[in-house]
Amino acid sequence: MTTLSGKTALVTGSTSGIGLGIALVLAKAGAKLILNGFGDASKAIAEVAQFGGQVGHHPADVSDPAQIAEMFAYAEREFGGVDILVNNAGIQHVAAVEEFPVERWDSIIAINLSSVFHSTRLGLPGMRAKGWGRIVNIASVHGQVDSVGKAAYVAAKHGVIGLTKVVGLETATSNVTCNAICPGWVLTPLVQKQIDDRVAAGTDPQQAQHDLLAEKQPSLAFVTPSQLGELVLFLCSEAGAQVRGAAWNIDGGWLAQ
Ligand code: NAD
Repeated sequence: MTTLSGKTALVTGSTSGIGLGIALVLAKAGAKLILNGFGDASKAIAEVAQFGGQVGHHPADVSDPAQIAEMFAYAEREFGGVDILVNNAGIQHVAAVEEFPVERWDSIIAINLSSVFHSTRLGLPGMRAKGWGRIVNIASVHGQVDSVGKAAYVAAKHGVIGLTKVVGLETATSNVTCNAICPGWVLTPLVQKQIDDRVAAGTDPQQAQHDLLAEKQPSLAFVTPSQLGELVLFLCSEAGAQVRGAAWNIDGGWLAQ
């Protein structure tokens, strides 16, 4: 069994959805956790704290490099640095490219792509100094294929996979690895909004969920946050030590088509 005792994990965007699911698996494996994300963090903190390790929360808006730097300073001060960095925070907006609001493009690129660069450049020196580290970027199947209406998201996630490969190579001879995970549909607030949009357009809720899956995900079942957490845990294990610069699908067969 992988034990992460003595390690500190920072998971961006972990007050809900996938990030919280990953944080719970890492905390169960013994890691200390730094949560990040918007909204009331008290419920997420209490859930993670049930495993008995140190838990903190930093409210950095990861679209702002200065706030990311403050979060890493907090991690150094309160936890002695970051051993496992999970770049997970992300947002979505769906619109045709010629109608895509410019400010939504800018925030998706800042949150879904540029924040991964900033966290990596700020986190990597500490990992190198300690001689061990793991960087896991939560990309998406949309880092490898497209869907109409998702110009900014698809561009950002393709960028995340490119960045992951570069960092994977730049750390290849060290005990630091960098990989991306590419989930298909996971039923979180980000996806619920897309189901709600279909319901608002007149589709029955059950049917809307089924249609969303049927269009892309052959298993017709959602990937779960805890399955994603277990994959992150594997990448943190000794068995995962030579997985480098990979983009690992976990998508109910989406990319096999
Ligand atoms: P979610 O909306 O449930 O959670 C997003 C988290 O990010 C929240 O904690 C939110 O507070 C935080 N966040 C948003 N903007 C932020 C900002 N500027 N600064 C700091 N935190 C911020 O979404 P999710 O579905 O759990 O998505 C998590 C990641 O997984 C995203 O990168 C998303 O692109 C990716 N992903 C999701 C799916 C899916 O089907 N849900 C599929 C593939 C990839």
